[in-house]
Amino acid sequence: MVQSPSRPAAVPPSFDAKALVEKQRAYFETRVTLPLQWRREQLQALDRVAHKYEAEILSALKSDLSKSPEEAFLTEAGSIYGEIKNALKNLKGWMKPRKGSAPIVIQPARAYQYSEPLGVTLIIAPWNYPYQLSIAPLIGALAAGCTAVLKPSELAPATSSVLRRMLSEAFPPEIVSVVEGGVEESQALLAERWDLIFFTGGTQVGRVVAEAAARHLTPTILELGGKSPCIIDRSADLEVTARRIAWGKYVNAGQTCIAPDYVLIPPELKGRFTELVQKAVRSFYGDDTRTSGDYGRIISTRHFERISALAAHGKIAFGGERDAASRFFAPTVITDAPVTSPLMQEEIFGPLLPLVDCPSIEDAIRFVRARPKPLALYSFARDASVNERVLRETSSGGAVTNDVCVHFAAEGLPFGGVGESGLGGYHGQASFDAFSHRKSVVKRPFLLDMALRYPPYGGKLSLFKRLM
Ligand code: NAD
Repeated sequence: MVQSPSRPAAVPPSFDAKALVEKQRAYFETRVTLPLQWRREQLQALDRVAHKYEAEILSALKSDLSKSPEEAFLTEAGSIYGEIKNALKNLKGWMKPRKGSAPIVIQPARAYQYSEPLGVTLIIAPWNYPYQLSIAPLIGALAAGCTAVLKPSELAPATSSVLRRMLSEAFPPEIVSVVEGGVEESQALLAERWDLIFFTGGTQVGRVVAEAAARHLTPTILELGGKSPCIIDRSADLEVTARRIAWGKYVNAGQTCIAPDYVLIPPELKGRFTELVQKAVRSFYGDDTRTSGDYGRIISTRHFERISALAAHGKIAFGGERDAASRFFAPTVITDAPVTSPLMQEEIFGPLLPLVDCPSIEDAIRFVRARPKPLALYSFARDASVNERVLRETSSGGAVTNDVCVHFAAEGLPFGGVGESGLGGYHGQASFDAFSHRKSVVKRPFLLDMALRYPPYGGKLSLFKRLM
């Protein structure tokens, strides 16, 4: 437990957003968050409580999203331990001033970037990976020496409740507070002045957050969504491609921000690819996905109905079975959906995989470039020059060749979107950077106060031209 002036942290349902921010700001202003030692202690406290509550977290994820404990550990709880460990190992180095170069005209001088904590921060999280996407930004906040208010998603209430209990056990409210609730609570928080807002969610709500932040000129990290394409070249190993896409598409019943949204594929490969996806689905979940303990459920009735409506566009090549009462929706492949239909216009965020005829890589690149920049892009080809061309000629938040989603696990790489899929990145050092301001610092001695830069300038132009 972290030592601090007051406790405990449980926030009542009707909370006072202004008072909460003021409390955290007063604490931040004491400057106790600046030293390495404080940051280490918070990360260690987080690590302890994450381990202590692991069983409760896994059971909450089962209750909210029917995630198996194995999947919940692999995609949520386990990755958090790795992030904390990495931050604890590297924090000292991240905090060191980074050297820059000082040009001759300002010599003698030394140039640096100092990392300073942004201050009092707000983290708003979504429901699809409700634990991972709440705690991973918090690791960045604490490593950077910030305080944080976390607003988990109301659509994953069991996880939200565990988050509140575990974080209020580890931290007093002036360091970390959890505000449970939905739009109303979120908007009350957004009305306050923060030093950073870290938002993960849909692009529409991202705009609401950006507007609220603009009122106080608050910097934002926006981790948003979109339609992440897969491009399949004729040279690809179709069986491995189908298995990897099926895994990334149907994990968490398709409710993954970086899930493959649709597949651009040469028309003659469509039939075989569909068979191979079906084969992979059987090998993952058995003959009846409904009875598999490893297949998730749709988060809410509203989303179940939304996905059902999307499935009505095009032809169902396999799958399509569903059950409204249990919000089960089978892994599904769809062909012949018009590109103007909602299935091909909106982020699917469910287990529907549309296949789009795309005779050439040139067509695929043009298709992607004509649409908003995706959060992720996946290119499959044995011919490395094809993958390289796709990487260079398309823009996306992240990309993987010959696989899907795995870039999320590369903690040395910043994870984030571009354009409509987001702004800024995090994970590993990028999380520390996201919650820090990099202050440019030039250090000069009093010695050698050269007259060159001082007026009168008469006759110095040719000298300036030579020096600059
Ligand atoms: P959402 O945008 O509906 O909600 C996210 C959070 O914002 C929730 O905490 C919610 O309570 C709050 N919120 C909702 N409406 C609000 C409003 N009008 N004003 C203020 N706050 C509001 O997103 P979601 O449905 O929880 O998650 C799904 C979306 O998130 C998908 O688009 C997905 O791609 C995206 N996502 C992105 C990432 C990423 O890392 N880039 C990760 C997961 C999910």
